[in-house]
Amino acid sequence: MPAYQPVRGMQDMLPEDYRRFRHVVDTARAVAGRYGFEHADTPIMEVTDVFARSMGETSDVVSKEMYSFEDRGGENVTLRPEGTAGMVRAFISNGLQNQVPWKVFYAGPMFRYERPQKGRYRQFHQIGVELIGVETPVADIEVIATGAHILSALGLGDKITLELNTLGDLESRATYREALVAYFTGHADKLSEDSRVRLQRNPLRILDSKDEGDKALVVNAPRFDDYLNEYSLSFFARVREGLEAIGVPYVRNQTLVRGLDYYTHTTFEFTTTALGAQGTVLAGGRYDGLVEQLGGPRLPGIGWGSGIERLMMLADQAPAAPRPVALIPLGEAAERKGLVLAEQLRRAGLYVEMGYSGNLKRRLQRADKQNATHAVILGEDELAKGVVTVRDLTSGEQQEVAFDQLAPRLTA
Ligand code: ATP
Ligand code: MG
Repeated sequence: MPAYQPVRGMQDMLPEDYRRFRHVVDTARAVAGRYGFEHADTPIMEVTDVFARSMGETSDVVSKEMYSFEDRGGENVTLRPEGTAGMVRAFISNGLQNQVPWKVFYAGPMFRYERPQKGRYRQFHQIGVELIGVETPVADIEVIATGAHILSALGLGDKITLELNTLGDLESRATYREALVAYFTGHADKLSEDSRVRLQRNPLRILDSKDEGDKALVVNAPRFDDYLNEYSLSFFARVREGLEAIGVPYVRNQTLVRGLDYYTHTTFEFTTTALGAQGTVLAGGRYDGLVEQLGGPRLPGIGWGSGIERLMMLADQAPAAPRPVALIPLGEAAERKGLVLAEQLRRAGLYVEMGYSGNLKRRLQRADKQNATHAVILGEDELAKGVVTVRDLTSGEQQEVAFDQLAPRLTA
């Protein structure tokens, strides 16, 4: 038999990993709840069109990273690479337009066929929020604040910078696009191959290029600010004022365009220098055209997604596992009674580890390793007397306790 490994770029989540994972999700869910986002989920697969139509055929995700296949019925389906498209699809399929503003929080696995490396996997997990139906900058401010608050609740406040930009409305974007095409066409010979393709299909993405030659050209490219119309400028000013008013610091990054087609106005990324090349921790923006593009009503939206693995790498401390009580029955009769006592303690809310086998010394060592608060020892003598010996594993003190007093004694 071969020694099987997980599929490349995918990881097992063992109990300690999962404890860290849960800490991130639970903290995020609790904070998001205070902003009115309630937990929801969509299937991990959608018909491929949902992603192709929303993110754009030329985006990196759609053109190179999706896990797409035909199912047995011939339907073209894709494992979700991100959360927004599915949530917007759910909003439309469930006919929720009368429930706006619609606010949801999600957490779950995402799949992208990328080169695996630190902080970059083929199955990874995201938390995220979406807010559909609010046109005003208040939505942008609150959605960004939710992200900032979650990061600080996870203890990451000092490790992270909020980078902020605007892509303007569709009109501003079209004018800017023309200016960019003119500029980059003049330097087409110096562009990377990828960016020459982008120049035809989506020139804004050149601003996002990681290629050094492209980056040098981007430095002198036309600036978005010079092409924003009045509405876009005042919208962005209100977003900035709001963030300043609630004390969320940010830096302006005029080249922050984000990789997907559906963004308009506000775009943002929370970044860190602590994770090497994988510096983006939480990212999102406003997507005013998306609901309509997916066949729904004309409603604006805004949201973000954040990689849980990257959050786990930054949040240094794993929360402690709950401390159990170690039950140690010695002998067959004691074992039978031990099962009953363990059950009573669990019903009373305690964590109970059963010391299955080995001599008393070995089982006490295991209890220590499990970080147990108490060992509850039940030998033949105790059984005859209707008591157990409770040893406090911190102080070493021990005491006999009657069976029916055990739960009250340990929960006191
Ligand atoms: P990157 O520039 O790192 O590829 P992205 O722009 O593709 O990020 P988004 O689509 O905005 O990322 O996803 C939001 C967040 O999800 C990222 O900021 C990151 O924290 C996380 N993320 C994205 N791709 C991966 C991956 N392959 N493995 C782990 N986390 C990821
Ligand atoms: Mg990516």
